[in-house]
Amino acid sequence: MSDLTSASMFDYDARPVTPQVAIVGLRASSVGYQLRDFLSRNGVPYEWVEIDDTERVHTLLDGSDLGPDHLPICILPDGSRLPIATVEAVATGLGLVSLPELAEYDLAIVGAGPAGLAAAVYGASEGLRTVAVEAVAPGGQAGTTSMIENYLGFPQGISGGELATRATAQARRFGAEVLLARPLVDIARDGLGYLTRLSDGAEVRSRGWSWTSSVNEP
Ligand SMILES: Cc1cc2nc3c(=O)[nH]c(=O)nc-3n(C[C@H](O)[C@H](O)[C@H](O)COP(=O)(O)OP(=O)(O)OC[C@H]3O[C@@H](n4cnc5c(N)ncnc54)[C@H](O)[C@@H]3O)c2cc1C
Repeated sequence: MSDLTSASMFDYDARPVTPQVAIVGLRASSVGYQLRDFLSRNGVPYEWVEIDDTERVHTLLDGSDLGPDHLPICILPDGSRLPIATVEAVATGLGLVSLPELAEYDLAIVGAGPAGLAAAVYGASEGLRTVAVEAVAPGGQAGTTSMIENYLGFPQGISGGELATRATAQARRFGAEVLLARPLVDIARDGLGYLTRLSDGAEVRSRGWSWTSSVNEP
């Protein structure tokens, strides 16, 4: 098995899988949509359970005092239940949130779509201490599409999810950090460099930065 198909990547041959995460909610709710989008774009299989599926809801919430006032409710792989679940809480519960490892980076990248991941690969492969900050999941818009036909180097096409997974693994193999599941909320000069703040209060110091958040406003 090559590096690119090691444990850090999904095993596409192993699907279908049994979801280890369940969400009880109302399909039409915006938070419910955000959670489904977040989980699918991060490659986390999940089971969506409508609140009116009484039998399944009873099985999942048996023994708790959780109910319609606590939607959406996320049941994590360890069995713990998150009432009024948010993307941030679910990401933390799944261990997808990591803190910056270094006190300072050469390059901070905002957004880990194809452009940000390419910047991370080339920055890190040139020896820059590189970190990419991503609000949702690696791959950006491209990560949401089932097939990209015109990406260089994939003559038969590649799914957006697989492209995102491969690019993230490649960036990390060169030593780049990819911090997921919370957006940058502020960036300011800090001496000769920059201080970037994430929505959970984490701070990233860097000598330079690259803004690759695409259609999203700085
Ligand atoms: C359904 C679909 C199918 C497509 N198919 C094709 C195709 O076949 N061929 C093709 O050439 N193009 C295709 N595209 C277009 C292609 O996906 C985009 O051109 C490409 O993704 C742009 O890459 P990007 O990295 O510049 O931006 P994006 O992909 O938009 O990535 C930007 C990233 O920045 C993150 N971000 C935004 N704000 C912040 C913040 N404050 N802090 C941290 N992170 C932030 C976002 O969450 C996102 O992940 C498709 C797009 C879609 C939606």
